[in-house]
Amino acid sequence: MKDEIEGVIFDLDGVLEFQGKAYPGAIELLNLLRSRGIPIRVLSNSTLKSRRSCAEKLKSKGFNIQEHEVVTASFATARYLETLNPRSCWVMLKREGLEEFSGFRHDPDDPEYIVLGDFREDFNFQNLNKALRLLCKGAKLIVMITETVDSSLGEMELTVGAYGKMLEDAAGIKATYIGKPNRYIFDITLDTMGNIERSRILMVGDRLATDILGAKNAGLKTALVKTGEFRESDLESPVALPDYIFDSVGEVAKLFR
Ligand SMILES: [Mg+2]
Repeated sequence: MKDEIEGVIFDLDGVLEFQGKAYPGAIELLNLLRSRGIPIRVLSNSTLKSRRSCAEKLKSKGFNIQEHEVVTASFATARYLETLNPRSCWVMLKREGLEEFSGFRHDPDDPEYIVLGDFREDFNFQNLNKALRLLCKGAKLIVMITETVDSSLGEMELTVGAYGKMLEDAAGIKATYIGKPNRYIFDITLDTMGNIERSRILMVGDRLATDILGAKNAGLKTALVKTGEFRESDLESPVALPDYIFDSVGEVAKLFR
């Protein structure tokens, strides 16, 4: 069975690290996979991080990861937007994730597409109403992630999907969502992995509703780790059943021994 896995995609937060600290065995597992010549990708629903900034942070913690091996929701959204050949866009996003959108024409006053990521404190009265009016005038909405709540920094916060759903509802339109569990981000990640058969690629994640559900729908093998945002209650009426369940990421090495 173990010989079947020819590529591994890791979720980042709650799998390789949590609140900025690498999980025991995570760095060693990546090194083991490298020594076997198995392609690795890190797939994160972070919108604030670019491929570059995410890879740099991982390297500074001791992970052997290159920029081209990272896919963030901001990177995937930019690649998707590229396929639409947009006239102009308003990218509602902060920090390094914005680097991914440097190739587009930005026009916040008359955009063809509104692209919604984590806009932090700029999700305010003025900007949200401006977005609403632009959508009612015909702008199209792309939302980087579906999730409505983020607890990764400790306290619960509304996140990107919540603003996306509010704008969809208020403007009476339908948005396109890119991040896990949506198909777009998986297809974009798999595109970077060459010609490996999907059923031979393993997705390792801590969330059934995003990592595992999305990976199963994309035709991948799945491993759930009971770290990060995992709760035992997730398994009571699971939205998707993983092929493997491990206590933590270090145990995934068992599949490769
Ligand atoms: Mg996670």
